[in-house]
Amino acid sequence: MSYLFPNYKRKNIELISGTKNRLVDENGQTYLDFTSGIGVMNLGYNDAELNHILAEQANLLWHTPNLYENHLQEKVAQKLANGNDYVSYFCNSGAEANEAAIKLARKVTGRSKMITFTNSFHGRTYGAMSATGQTSIHEGFQPLVPDFVHVPFNQIQPLRQAIDTDTAAVMLELIQGEGGVIPADSSWIQSVAALCQEVGALLIVDEIQTGIGRTGTFYAYEQYQIQPDIFTLAKGLGNGIPVGAMLGKKEFASAFSAGSHGSTFGGNKLAMRVADQVVTRINQPEFLNNVQQLSEQLVSGLKKITKKSSLIREIRGKGLMIGIEVVNQESLEWVMELLEANGLLALKAGQTVLRLLPPLTLSKEELNQALIIFEQVFNQGGKP
Ligand SMILES: *Cc1c(COP(=O)(O)O)cnc(C)c1O
Repeated sequence: MSYLFPNYKRKNIELISGTKNRLVDENGQTYLDFTSGIGVMNLGYNDAELNHILAEQANLLWHTPNLYENHLQEKVAQKLANGNDYVSYFCNSGAEANEAAIKLARKVTGRSKMITFTNSFHGRTYGAMSATGQTSIHEGFQPLVPDFVHVPFNQIQPLRQAIDTDTAAVMLELIQGEGGVIPADSSWIQSVAALCQEVGALLIVDEIQTGIGRTGTFYAYEQYQIQPDIFTLAKGLGNGIPVGAMLGKKEFASAFSAGSHGSTFGGNKLAMRVADQVVTRINQPEFLNNVQQLSEQLVSGLKKITKKSSLIREIRGKGLMIGIEVVNQESLEWVMELLEANGLLALKAGQTVLRLLPPLTLSKEELNQALIIFEQVFNQGGKP
């Protein structure tokens, strides 16, 4: 028997080592990784510098409670603010970061209504799950946290009808990740921000998947000409060391007064040393420009390959967060199987979208190798 809950659908391979942008399974088979462990390993695997820093901190001190000063948290928080007036709260995961965001929004506004979007994904804890706009994720867990309202994504009229002066916040992903790699329209985001302003609701941006360089800018919101009131981070922040963060405008700081919220492990020394290094390396113009260049090459290569394919509906995304929508669920299954058999690991999003999230350190050679594999798979044009 298995001693584990069967709450994950697992593939029948175990990955046991990795270097840079490649992984090796227990049989010695090597894969080009286009998953980054679901948008986590933005600097790739077995990075010498990160290994060194983690080992150095491990030999010094792993953890102190948040009852003592922590200059590493200050250092990372300053870097995450990225020149703006944001303050940080550190936790250990995306769901926890969103919980903190929801709690802060309610405390700051004194209102309870939260508006989120169909197909969104915000995590599995009660608040974050209630925010998530997918009924399949709610099933069997009701009653949910009250006062969450879901409206269609990229449409202004339903939001206009739902939003009012009881609304604490509107919360959204700028590219819906789990929901199918669906980018928000720029003009729609402008209208959302304006509606929030009008009624005094906060705008919360969930950057858990889109943040830390993933979309070609340090934060995705930079590409939408908005300044969120609150935003959340996790996945790429620790390159595999569990860490999350919730950032809010400085004027909200007093709402999280001493004793109002907290976490035992949040922002511990190991996580902060690694996050400091990750943020420092990714938030560089050359690094981010390279992500944009890789993105252009990958997207144009994919478009060229799939131009004649009747399998593909659309290729979309930003930076190295790319979705390839195929015609149906069955096709997605065999595409993923064939990619794996050809030595490339990729992800699914929604029912019909192949999601590509390679490490941001992908090389041009690896990109070209990946395109050769995609060509082989997509141009099979039928079942394996
Ligand atoms: C993954 C994800 C979460 C949840 O993060 P966990 O660390 O799994 O709790 C929340 N929001 C978005 C947009 C995500 O992609």
